[in-house]
Amino acid sequence: MKATAFAVENIPLIKPGNDIGRLIVEKTELEEHDIIVVSSTIVSKSDNRILPLDNVKVTPKAKAISKKNGNDPRFVQAVLNESSEVFIESPFLLVLTKSGSICVNAGIDHSNVQGSENILLLPEDPDRSAKKIKETIFELTGKKVSVIITDTNGRAFRMGQTGAAIGIAGIMPTRDWRGTKDLFGRVLEVKNEAIIDEFAGFANILMGEGNGGTPIVIIRGLNFYRESCSIKELYRPETEDMIRRALISRSV
Ligand code: GDP
Ligand code: MN
Ligand code: MN
Repeated sequence: MKATAFAVENIPLIKPGNDIGRLIVEKTELEEHDIIVVSSTIVSKSDNRILPLDNVKVTPKAKAISKKNGNDPRFVQAVLNESSEVFIESPFLLVLTKSGSICVNAGIDHSNVQGSENILLLPEDPDRSAKKIKETIFELTGKKVSVIITDTNGRAFRMGQTGAAIGIAGIMPTRDWRGTKDLFGRVLEVKNEAIIDEFAGFANILMGEGNGGTPIVIIRGLNFYRESCSIKELYRPETEDMIRRALISRSV
């Protein structure tokens, strides 16, 4: 197998209302089944998910958590507003977001956002955002592409952060090896490779985390196209999630 990848150049600072799908078509020549990886930051900006901290009404619960973890109470409240469950309050907030992912601070960012008193929420429905980009590209070019929206996430058990998929369209989330054979004829029983996270991780290397201004990466030469899909296929069902259960029972 062979693939190439590149960051799309000359992407402007994204403003509310900007059409990301159209921007991609304007800035680069696409091919059928290209995998287009888009940083959630610019999707959030285009969806106007910018929140001035002073607009946040702080509740006693947020105040109490803020005393424990030292975060700005308005920031804590913003995280709570985006969450449906809290697993860890301190030294950092680990939550289940309303869109179904478990992450630190509900993925709310300070970095690469204009204005020190502004924070940036994750897209409200990242699958929907990915689908919109995919459909715009199809309308403008007639090409069927895969779209992955990513965010930089920390990991349990390991130091360092990597890109992770948080919303998808037109791509199979996993490559299922179960039932196939290894080099010695042994049937694989468990391996279901989370390819969208692997693409997100690699694309993140080209995006960077700082002032590169490269929020869009194209991966070309592989075909993992699938019309119908959802990031929820990767979210482990609550009843099967032993680590989540352990967290709740210890209640940190
Ligand atoms: P996140 O991982 O989705 O939270 O996004 P990051 O803040 O790590 O940014 C990823 C990449 O996108 C970096 O190269 C940033 O410089 C770039 N970036 C962020 N916002 C913008 C923007 O509005 N315009 C452009 N051109 N690049 C941006
Ligand atoms: Mn982020
Ligand atoms: Mn990042």
